[in-house]
Amino acid sequence: MKELSKIFGSLVFNDNVMREKLPKDVYKVLRKTIDEGKPINPKIANVVANTMKDWAIEHGATHYTHWFQPMTGITAEKHDSFISPTDDGNIIMEFSGKELIKGEPDGSSFPSGGLRSTFEARGYTVWDPTSYAFIRDTTLCIPTAFCAYSGQSLDKKTPLLKSMEAINKSAVKVLNLLGYNDVTRVITTVGAEQEYFLIDKELFDKRMDLKFCHRTLFGAKPPKGQEMEDHYFGSIKPRVAEYMKELDMELWKLGVLSKTKHNEVAPSQHELAPVFSVSNVATDHNQITMDLMKRIADKHGLVCLLHEKPFAGVNGSGKHNNWSMSTNTGKNLLSPGKKPNENKTFLLFLAAIIKAVDENQDLLRISVSSAGNDHRLGGNEAPPAIISMFLGGELKKILRCIENDLPYTDEVLNKMEFDVDVLPSFMKDTTDRNRTSPFAFTGNKFEFRMLGSTTNIACPNTILNTIVADSLDDFAKSLETSTDIETTINELVKNTMKKHSRIIFNGNNYAEEWVVEAERRGLLNFKTAVDALPHYVDDKNVKLFERHNVYSKEELQSRCDILLEEYSKTLNIEALTMLEMAKKSIIPAACAYTKSLTETALDKKALCSEIDCSVELNLVKKISSLNACLLKKLDELDSALLESKNYIEVKENAQFYKDAVKIKMQEIRAIADELETIVGKEYWPFPSYADLLFSI
Ligand code: ADP
Ligand code: MG
Repeated sequence: MKELSKIFGSLVFNDNVMREKLPKDVYKVLRKTIDEGKPINPKIANVVANTMKDWAIEHGATHYTHWFQPMTGITAEKHDSFISPTDDGNIIMEFSGKELIKGEPDGSSFPSGGLRSTFEARGYTVWDPTSYAFIRDTTLCIPTAFCAYSGQSLDKKTPLLKSMEAINKSAVKVLNLLGYNDVTRVITTVGAEQEYFLIDKELFDKRMDLKFCHRTLFGAKPPKGQEMEDHYFGSIKPRVAEYMKELDMELWKLGVLSKTKHNEVAPSQHELAPVFSVSNVATDHNQITMDLMKRIADKHGLVCLLHEKPFAGVNGSGKHNNWSMSTNTGKNLLSPGKKPNENKTFLLFLAAIIKAVDENQDLLRISVSSAGNDHRLGGNEAPPAIISMFLGGELKKILRCIENDLPYTDEVLNKMEFDVDVLPSFMKDTTDRNRTSPFAFTGNKFEFRMLGSTTNIACPNTILNTIVADSLDDFAKSLETSTDIETTINELVKNTMKKHSRIIFNGNNYAEEWVVEAERRGLLNFKTAVDALPHYVDDKNVKLFERHNVYSKEELQSRCDILLEEYSKTLNIEALTMLEMAKKSIIPAACAYTKSLTETALDKKALCSEIDCSVELNLVKKISSLNACLLKKLDELDSALLESKNYIEVKENAQFYKDAVKIKMQEIRAIADELETIVGKEYWPFPSYADLLFSI
């Protein structure tokens, strides 16, 4: 095997390759573009394109694609070959600067939420030189942003880049005011821990729900679930290990710093964590990771499920978005150092985040909203739908001292110990790593844990960057007019705590008592995506995003509509799949089983009229009555789907799906799952939960 260091990034047109292959002056200009976010000079684009093409062909590529992240789905691409005909009937391999910089996919089939009517189908993809091009299979993939003819962004990448610019500007301003004059750039860093399930492909193929909806719509609980907690960090099975090995190798070739892998809490559930990188690169890498997870599974006879809740009653999958900020001088702004109480810069940035999170609970909740994630957030599992922050004991005490003008001394701390948390002990978290918090400080970064496993991390990070930029701008105003920076910082932290400390909660976020306590504190609790999403376009939010040039009002409205529509469509597909499975497979299976029971009973009676046939009789009665109930509920679901067509407006439509359709689906599932526990195994038409979860 080739040395790992040679394999790593071997399929990426990265800095090393550029430096080696590009003329010196071109390299310098391009580097400046990448580092300083300057627009690309078309003259050098031709040289870069040609070099990129030669390198790609050397590595087996025949095609190129502008790779982008539309407002729904994972990633999109349209492949063009490098081939160009010549006058003498031959071909040459060509790739111009123009083709590198700009593409024109037929955008009409991508959702635009009204931003681009279909007759004006033109959408442009524009090269993002800050994220390296890479080769997948035989295609050179060029990361791009996607926008409409009118300039409005149609993707998730453009707003992210804008939000990075916004927070850069605000943070640099604050740092300069604090006296860090050598700071010229601040970047946000992200490490996205990805959870997923692996199941056997043969079994997957036997379930229409998994194929169409990526989650099971039926399935009785297996006798053994995750209660023994024997899967978490347990030894990795050989077949899974083979898969992980290949996944790592392919990710490394693409320069993705896949680092940790382990089993997760649920059976058949696993996690992959990369080393963190700059937000936009981390976003591309997470998209690549999800894509490769699926492709490579296929090669191993497995299927990778990225859905937030593939199995009821078993832990779902999320994605932890580890987030921090660092300067061009190499300082992690969220690193508290040995004496956080004396680290004014850290405390000020921490305060900015506290203020941002409290003022924008709605946006953070929105950023992780989807039909799939509704099964986790607000369900009976991690994390809840209520946003709060965990800071750990020490930071909380430091902030409390500042808030109350108390010195941070042992004497004060000893006294304070008692009133730090006026919480009953059942709500206290016993560790200093609180795993139940949706937004936790973990040493030198915040870990936003509400993301669903399929979430494109661009959106949560766009929101996180923008809201923190806004707080920093606010602080900058006070610092600008300050005559004593130290005192001003203290005042800012103190006022933040006075106003926003309600958002800090170090206790157990799963406790029912927390819901009550959060309500008392006036914290938001949007239980579902449909409750949260319409707030995207609240006045406060429109102003915020416009202030930072991240989204226009129309762009926000389009995202809101697309996400609500996606919600309805998801539930519609699930409902139709459910109807199909129940009518065509479950009811017939139950009938077949009752038939065999009836025949058995009749045979027995023929043999001897006194024989006990109560088992057959009782089962036939029970199954028949469940089957009748099931059919009735299916009819009701059918009617609900018809009725949904009366709700034309996207928000009302989504509301109807949430209130009327979802409930019917739950009722149907309950009946079918009960049937599954009585109908003989060989009659049941689908692999069971036990088959799916324990087969590898
Ligand atoms: P844990 O396993 O306790 O959650 P790790 O140290 O393994 O914590 O880190 C989890 C994730 O956080 C990794 O993806 C890691 O790269 C990322 N991470 C670490 N430091 C930073 C940082 N400064 N900014 C963003 N992400 C970070
Ligand atoms: Mg983590």
